[in-house]
Amino acid sequence: MVAADVRAGRHGGRVVTRFPPEPNGYLHIGHAKSICLNFGVAREYDGVCHLRFDDTNPETEDVKYVDSIIEDVRWLGFDWGEHLYFASDYFERMYAFGEHLIRMGRAYVDSASEAEVRAARGTVMESGRPTAYRGRTVAENLDLFRRMRAGEFGDGEHVLRAKIDLASPNMLMRDPILYRIRHAHHYRQGDAWCIYPLYDYAHPIEDALESVTHSLCTLEFENNRELYDWIVTSLPRGEGPDAIPQDSAPAQTEFARLGLDYTVMSKRKLLQLVEAGDVAGWDDPRMPTIAGMRRRGVTPEAVRTFCELIGVAKANTRVDIGKLEYAIRDDLNQRAPRVMAVLRPLRVVLTNWPAGRVEDIDAPYWPHDVPRLGSRTVPFSGELLIERDDFMEDPPRGFHRLVPGGEVRLRYGYIIRCDEVVKGDSGEVVELRCSYDDATRGGSADGRSVRGTIHWVSAPHAVRCDVRLYDRLFTAPDPEADDAVAFTALLNPASLEVMQDARVEPSVAACEPGARFQFERLGYFFADPIDSTPGKPVFNRTVTLRDTWTRQLSGQPSPGRPDRAGRGGAAARADGRGAVEPLRPEPVERSGALETLRARYEREHGITAEQADVLTRDAAIAAFYEAALSASSAPAAAVATWLVNELPRAARGAVDALPVGGAVLGEVVGMLARDELSSSAAREVLAELLERGGDAREIVERRGLRQLDDAAALAGLVDDVLAGNAPKVAEFRAGRAGLLGFFLGQVMARTGGRANPSVLRRLLEERLQER
Ligand code: ATP
Ligand code: MG
Repeated sequence: MVAADVRAGRHGGRVVTRFPPEPNGYLHIGHAKSICLNFGVAREYDGVCHLRFDDTNPETEDVKYVDSIIEDVRWLGFDWGEHLYFASDYFERMYAFGEHLIRMGRAYVDSASEAEVRAARGTVMESGRPTAYRGRTVAENLDLFRRMRAGEFGDGEHVLRAKIDLASPNMLMRDPILYRIRHAHHYRQGDAWCIYPLYDYAHPIEDALESVTHSLCTLEFENNRELYDWIVTSLPRGEGPDAIPQDSAPAQTEFARLGLDYTVMSKRKLLQLVEAGDVAGWDDPRMPTIAGMRRRGVTPEAVRTFCELIGVAKANTRVDIGKLEYAIRDDLNQRAPRVMAVLRPLRVVLTNWPAGRVEDIDAPYWPHDVPRLGSRTVPFSGELLIERDDFMEDPPRGFHRLVPGGEVRLRYGYIIRCDEVVKGDSGEVVELRCSYDDATRGGSADGRSVRGTIHWVSAPHAVRCDVRLYDRLFTAPDPEADDAVAFTALLNPASLEVMQDARVEPSVAACEPGARFQFERLGYFFADPIDSTPGKPVFNRTVTLRDTWTRQLSGQPSPGRPDRAGRGGAAARADGRGAVEPLRPEPVERSGALETLRARYEREHGITAEQADVLTRDAAIAAFYEAALSASSAPAAAVATWLVNELPRAARGAVDALPVGGAVLGEVVGMLARDELSSSAAREVLAELLERGGDAREIVERRGLRQLDDAAALAGLVDDVLAGNAPKVAEFRAGRAGLLGFFLGQVMARTGGRANPSVLRRLLEERLQER
């Protein structure tokens, strides 16, 4: 629309937008969408975007909100130049326009009570009727309006109404109220005024005075557009302060409000949470506010990418919070060095380690990204701490971490074997006594294969610090869905968990407040800028490494999965919930046929003995696996791994209780193997299938999960975007590396969020390096 207007030369080719928050609360992610849209459109068309405080309502507004809004919009990366405005600065002119409307016979003072005015307005079925005051003369109206302003009347005694059409099918056009009396203190105007304009009157005047061209607002204002236009066309035109500029012709266009799952977005409700102490403040990291996200460790780039991803639509929808988390992960993946921390420590003593010896290990910050340099020293000693969850005394099948008598590799360190489990009085495991293999330091060159790799810290060197884990603020996707249930009743009691005993490697303890890390296998963490002190960081988990929530929802226990420490996607659930559950601990007697199958799977399918074991527990699961294989183009090992790791219910023998058959699994794994889906998307699809059944392709399409990774197809879009943003390309090449996120977001948006992010990033990086 804006492009068409510019092409057609409307508004003289100018583009002026505005972001008009009311300073009655902090900005939230919904506002971020509006900010990115308004500032983004202005930027795209070489226009300007005004930051205007829509502060016409004295009761709830406050300068502290003005300050927070300014900070938040800046933080998001937008600049309004000299165009900072306050609607309350226009009060004098709004008043003059009120007198103008009266003189034109387009407004009158109504002295009926609020209830009478409402009753006389009629209903959708019947038109309104005039109150006794509609016929007042201009002189009478002017006199009363002036005395209203002068403070001669109490609240509610009179109102100023537009005189439009009491029979209009649009209720808002039935002589809407323009001014009401409120003896209230205004945070900027003090007690200068006791009459205040209503939104429907004030907003078009603000836009018109500022010569805004495109007034973008949310869908609920669709019916107000008629009134908006009526006001704009009723205003006096000309030079000087008491008229609006000749060529000012603002037009309102509505777009869909952003709603996000598992949170609420109304400032009133957020204020309620703050005031009730349900959260620690507006910037509590669980809040959907910009300040909360910033405190949690989210970057402005991630918020902007998210806003690009969701796009602008005409229909209200709720956005899956997974999309926001995706944007956050994708951004942090590029900027957060990998380090080690242990959230729930379990002591490991290496019995054959020379007393007092400490080895300094040089560990890379970017182990997944070979050309990228940077490393730190991690001390290794005979007393270590590992994650409590990484040891199990009675492991289920498929548990690939440390078990009694078993071996595991310590990331960057040695392979250790657990020789002895030491227990406390109540039988809890307090220490593991292990031996290490001196020939295995530093990686897989030794050629030994072990079940998994786990992270660790050296006990005497590690530093204790508080770590906060956050979960969704509400337990229901839409906490406002049911009017009969207070949204506060749906608060998630476990939304904050503070780890009291967490340890970080020494290099991390020295970080600055505001530093970001990936703690390997645990997620992305942010050193809280307020609560951290030098040498004593307090960490907030910004986001986990992958979506653990969908799994919980579908009632799936988190299976023990092969660990690939540091490989990005393999987050263990270190926070205890969804702990590993035994698949089928008891031994089974196999029939001859099943035994034959077992041996064949193990021999021919490239899978482990354990997997073959699980897949031939009974005839039902074997049949399920066979059905998956025949429906899939993926290698058998991939199908087997997904079955065993992702469908623990099936693997435990409840195959018949699943709402889907094996073919469906095969289809999903096939799409994954063909790179049509990312693995997190595949999990999302499976989770829905397991919960409700259905058709995999339909789910993929409905959720918009199909990945585009055809580099040739994406290259065209990349070129388009770069060509359309030449100044930004120049800025990027001049060193503003952060713009990569912008380009990524632009292309993503054109693909509806489905581009394979790594293919896309590679393409962009290639193209941006070319000169
Ligand atoms: P809330 O309902 O959260 O109190 P609001 O609309 O009253 O929000 P304003 O300060 O008036 O808050 O909003 C400023 C701008 O932000 C408006 O133009 C509004 O359309 C836009 N906006 C507010 N919430 C959303 C949202 N959820 N999605 C998109 N835009 C939004
Ligand atoms: Mg509003």
